[in-house]
Amino acid sequence: MTIRTGRQYIDGLKRRPRDVWANGKRVDDVTTYPAFRRPVERIANLFDMQHDPAFQETLSYVVPESGERAGTSFLIPRCYNDLVRRRNGFRAWAESTFGLMGRSPDFLNCTLAAFADAADVFARGGRRYADNVLRYYEYARSNDLMLTHALIPPQNDRSKGTGAQADPFLHMGVVRETSGGPILRGARMLATLGPVADEVLVYNLPGLHPEESANAMVFALPVDTPGLRQICRPPYDRGDLDPADHPLASQFEECDSLLIFNDVLVPWERVFLYKDVALSNALYPDTNLRQYTGHQTSVRALVKLEFATGIAMEMARAVKTDVHLHVQEMLGECVNYVEIVKSCIARAEHEYETTPRGTVRPSFQPLMTLRTYVPRVYPRVIEILQTIGAGGLMMMPAAADFEGPVAADVEKYFQGAGVTAMERTRLYKLAWELAGDAFGSRQLQYERYFNGDPVRTTASNFLFYDKSACLELVSRALQLFGS
Ligand SMILES: Cc1cc2nc3c(=O)[nH]c(=O)nc-3n(C[C@H](O)[C@H](O)[C@H](O)COP(=O)(O)OP(=O)(O)OC[C@H]3O[C@@H](n4cnc5c(N)ncnc54)[C@H](O)[C@@H]3O)c2cc1C
Repeated sequence: MTIRTGRQYIDGLKRRPRDVWANGKRVDDVTTYPAFRRPVERIANLFDMQHDPAFQETLSYVVPESGERAGTSFLIPRCYNDLVRRRNGFRAWAESTFGLMGRSPDFLNCTLAAFADAADVFARGGRRYADNVLRYYEYARSNDLMLTHALIPPQNDRSKGTGAQADPFLHMGVVRETSGGPILRGARMLATLGPVADEVLVYNLPGLHPEESANAMVFALPVDTPGLRQICRPPYDRGDLDPADHPLASQFEECDSLLIFNDVLVPWERVFLYKDVALSNALYPDTNLRQYTGHQTSVRALVKLEFATGIAMEMARAVKTDVHLHVQEMLGECVNYVEIVKSCIARAEHEYETTPRGTVRPSFQPLMTLRTYVPRVYPRVIEILQTIGAGGLMMMPAAADFEGPVAADVEKYFQGAGVTAMERTRLYKLAWELAGDAFGSRQLQYERYFNGDPVRTTASNFLFYDKSACLELVSRALQLFGS
């Protein structure tokens, strides 16, 4: 196979009915379920873009071994130009969703590329695991699969580790082993786009404790595997949001689900790491996982910051609040965030590192900085949108008001400074969706947490930072001025 079309993606979902629950009912067909239908179309559009002559070179490459096309995010980079190529691919997809679909398929393609590049790391657990990883990477690449992932146990009792919960299988772990593979029981979260994915990839954040070996696994499974259940958070759009009033929420809502493993068999050939805590914890430092995914997430976040900044600028212009100094200052602050993110991405690419395997990766520190920086500045940009939009954010008419008996009043009283009521309303609705309603709240929560707990990631930025340049200065000053 090769790069898929949107139709092939949708047909694939239809062929594989999965055990998905939303609002108390089983979802028979995720492609027609009102809450998922439009986001599924947006994802299908991403696949279609791969076939659009305007994007094909950006979004795909020819795999030398097979001569077939594959998504650029599967490309294991071997030079600076490959990094640029990957960045352009991330950007093209991110622009088409305004950066609002955090788990577009390229994200997990990056994880698979990082795993395949570091198959030798998986081989530490046994050669067969490395072979499994490589085979799966090739399978996902040639079938252009869309993956979801679930890295953490659900929030039950966070004062205790997974192994110390009252029920030993509250959190997903190996309950027994068979000749066909291990059997898993328990839950995992948080599978964004899980209901509409082809497969789920499970691995762990670093920090597993030695007694958590039953949870220390890496594997992939089709989402229709028997025993695998998904319970969704209630969708915000039940399929009834009018795009004229909810231009973003009606299109880009990523469903989220809790995964429940009801004694699920994972075939051995789909196991990449088995009951090995040390190796599970080593995956982040010893593979390119953080660099490849960090590259994609940073480019996607940049597009979203640019989008939010553009909305703030246009809103201020629409009612001429941008003549005021403090509004200009806030807009300048947003520009700074955009520029800093852009600069870190460029630095990560320019200061790329070559791995012992002869592959390259963007440098770690600028991407790590963004991993902890974006969760802090995105909420601030949203606060700026709220501050600049003020009462106007929610005081907007419905699209239907422009056609009904109050149309003349609406045209007159909702006009801006040199912009029509319709123009102003459409603009402010974009802002409200990002900065106000349920869709925007999830977007905010996403940016805060999708990369892990920002408290612990920022602390680890201090703990593992190469401090020599800072400390040397202090040491020199102490020597210079010491008695
Ligand atoms: C919208 C959204 C989408 C997501 N999508 C995905 C996805 O697709 N796949 C996926 O795997 N994950 C996803 N995540 C989950 C994400 O990985 C987690 O939210 C993140 O790792 C934090 O874990 P948590 O939510 O369980 O918070 P917790 O770890 O429970 O933390 C909650 C609070 O308690 C504090 N806290 C808890 N435990 C400790 C501790 N031991 N030490 C110090 N402080 C502690 C934290 O600082 C934080 O303030 C998503 C999250 C969100 C919000």
